Amino acid sequence: MDDLSSRQVHLDFHTSQYITEVGKDFDAEEFAEALRRAHVNSVTCFARCHHGWLYYPSRENSELMHPHLKRPRLLLEQIEACHKRGIRVPVYTTVRWDERVLREKPEWLCRDVKGDPVNRGGGQEAHFCYDICLNSGYREFFKKHILDIIHVVGRENLDGLFLDIVMQTECCCEDCRRLMKEEGLDPDIRMDRVSFAELTLNRFRSEISALIWEHAPGISVFYNDPGIDPVMRRSIDTYSHLELESLPSGDWGYDHFPAMARYAAHFGKKMIGMTGKFHTAWGDFHSLKNKEALEFECFQMLAMGAGCSVGDQLHPWGRLSDATCRLIGEVYESVEAKEPFCTGAVMEAEAAVLTPHEYLNPILDGRELPASLVGAVHMLQELSYQFTVIDSEDCFDDYKVLILPDEIPYSEKLERKLEEYVAGGGAVFGSYHACIRERSSLYGVKDVRESEYSREFVLPGSVIGKDLPEEPFVMYGRGTDVGAADSDVIMQKVHPWFERKGKRFCSHLHAPARGGVQGTEMVQKGNVLYCAHPIFRIYREYAPRWCREMFRDAMEILCPDKLVSHTGSSQVQCILNQKDDDTKILHLLFYIPEKKSENIYTIEDVIPLYNMEIRVFLGGRRAERIHLVPECKEIPFREEDGYVVFRVEELRGHQMAEIKYVGQEEI
Ligand SMILES: [Zn+2]
Repeated sequence: MDDLSSRQVHLDFHTSQYITEVGKDFDAEEFAEALRRAHVNSVTCFARCHHGWLYYPSRENSELMHPHLKRPRLLLEQIEACHKRGIRVPVYTTVRWDERVLREKPEWLCRDVKGDPVNRGGGQEAHFCYDICLNSGYREFFKKHILDIIHVVGRENLDGLFLDIVMQTECCCEDCRRLMKEEGLDPDIRMDRVSFAELTLNRFRSEISALIWEHAPGISVFYNDPGIDPVMRRSIDTYSHLELESLPSGDWGYDHFPAMARYAAHFGKKMIGMTGKFHTAWGDFHSLKNKEALEFECFQMLAMGAGCSVGDQLHPWGRLSDATCRLIGEVYESVEAKEPFCTGAVMEAEAAVLTPHEYLNPILDGRELPASLVGAVHMLQELSYQFTVIDSEDCFDDYKVLILPDEIPYSEKLERKLEEYVAGGGAVFGSYHACIRERSSLYGVKDVRESEYSREFVLPGSVIGKDLPEEPFVMYGRGTDVGAADSDVIMQKVHPWFERKGKRFCSHLHAPARGGVQGTEMVQKGNVLYCAHPIFRIYREYAPRWCREMFRDAMEILCPDKLVSHTGSSQVQCILNQKDDDTKILHLLFYIPEKKSENIYTIEDVIPLYNMEIRVFLGGRRAERIHLVPECKEIPFREEDGYVVFRVEELRGHQMAEIKYVGQEEI
C-alpha cells in the first residue's frame, strides 16, 4: 500500500430496494472534486452492499444490480473521476451479510445447533445480519463475484478490495457438519465447532487472497473484523494492510482504538485507523460528528503511526453532503500538514502490556476488550508512560518493563520466558492471577490462594502509596492471599470486619477495616513486583486514584529514566515517536471525551492548557533544537540529568514538538 491512503473516506452505500432513482444526482466530476477539495486521497466505493445489490455493470450477476440504479456504471464512474485527481478507490464488497441471500438462498446461511440462523451482530428486525456460511454454495458465488469485479473494473483500474464482515461464526449447517467429520472433528461438541470456525476463516482468507492476487497482483486486500487479535496475526499474510475499525461514538467507545492500535502496530503491516463522521455510528444519515471529536480521533491515529479513514454514507441519489465534505476537509487539511512529521515514525515503548486477549476466544468470550487491558492502558496513558501492547509470542527484550494484567493464565512456557527476561535485566509487574500458581519463583511468593473477602483495604507506606494519607484504602474486588517466600513485602493489607453475606452486613456497602495488618498486598523480588489485587480491572471499573498512585510508585521502582513527564493534566496523552536517526516527535493530545447523553460519548470543547513543562529523556544525546510543528516555531530548552526540558505555552487540542538531537544513546 502506498502512502496515498493516509486520508481516506470509507463511503458506505447500503441501499434498500425500496429506495428509487438511485444515483440520479450523481455527477462524477463534482463527486471527485468535492473529495479532492476535502484533502481526501483515497475513497472506498461500493461494488456490492449488505442489501445484496451491485453498483457496477456486472457480467456474471446482472440480475443483482440495484433494481432502481439510474447510473449502472456508478462504481466505474467514481473510479475514473477519482483517478484523474490522483485519488485511490479501493472497492468494497460484503462477505457474510447479504439481505438477498437471506431472502432467496436460506440454504447458504449459518445455522446454530437448533437449526436457526445466526445473528451474531445482534441486528434488530428487519435486518441483513444473519451470517452466511462460507462452506456453503455461497463460496463459489463469492469467488465468481470477486472475479467479476476484477474483470469489469479492470485490473489496471482496481486499487484494492475491502472485504467486510469476515468474523468467526460457529456453524452447524449440513455442509459444516460434513466437513467437520472429514477433519476428525465432532459437530456435536462445542469446542470442535469453535475450532472449525477459526479453521474455516483462515482457509477462506487464504483462498480468496490467492485468487485476488492471481488475477490482480499487488492490489490492497483487507478483511474487516473489528477484533484485531492473535488469530488474525497468524493469517496476516492474507492482508496487505490493516484498517482498524473503531467508531468511538458507536459500540467501540474511546478505549478501543488506543489498545488495538498499540497491539496491531506489531503485525508488521501499514495501518489505517477508521472512525466515522456520524454523530453515532454507521448508517446515521443526516448527522455530523463534532469537529473537535473528529480532530482528536484523526490526530490520535497519526500519533500512533496510522493513516486516517473516516466513514461516511453516500445518499442514495448519489450526491455527497456539503457539510460532511467541509467537516472532513477541515480536519484532513490539518492532517495533511502534520503528515510529514508522522510518516515513517514509530512509537517508542519503555513498557509493554501483555494482552489477555490471546487467551480469549472470539466466539466463546465475545469481542469486548478485557477490562484489565483497558485499565492498564488508562493508567499508563494517564501517567504518560511510553508503552505498547504485545502477546506472549513477541520478543520481550525490547522493553524495560513488562506488565502482566490480572488475568494472564499460568503456563510453564510463559513463566520460563519471563524468568529469562528478568535474568537479562528486564522488570515485571504482575497482578492477581497473572502467570501464578500456588507458589511462584518469579514473584517469590508462596501459599497463594483466593482471598476470603471481596473487599479488602491497602495500607499506604513509604514505598508504595507514599503520597497517599496513611490510612486504609478499599480495593473494589477480590484479591489473593500470598506469603512472601524470597521477596520483600512493600505494601500490606487489612481485612474488613467481616464479609457482607447472609444476615451479617454493615451499612450500605462493605464492612470497614478491622485495624492492624492482616496480609500482604505487594511484594518485590529484585526487578519483579507482584500486587495481590486485580488493580487494572479495578481501575477500569472504578478508577480509584489510589490504585493509580500505587501503580505509579511501582513503576518508579521498575522503570527508571522515564521517557516523558509533564506538569499538565492526567488527561494529556503524550506519545513519543522516533523519526529518522536524529529526530523525536512528541505528540501532546488534550481532548476530554464526555458522556453528555445516555447513549454515547463525544467531544465538543477544546480546552487550552497553558504553560506545561515537558521533560524528555535523551539518554546522553544532546538536543540541538526544538520546534513546535507543523507551525515551525522554535522554542527554548534546557538540559538536566539526561533530560531535555521545555515549555509548551499553549496546548490547544493537539500539538507536536520536533526534537532534533545529536550523539548516540548511552546504553
Ligand atoms: Zn456452515
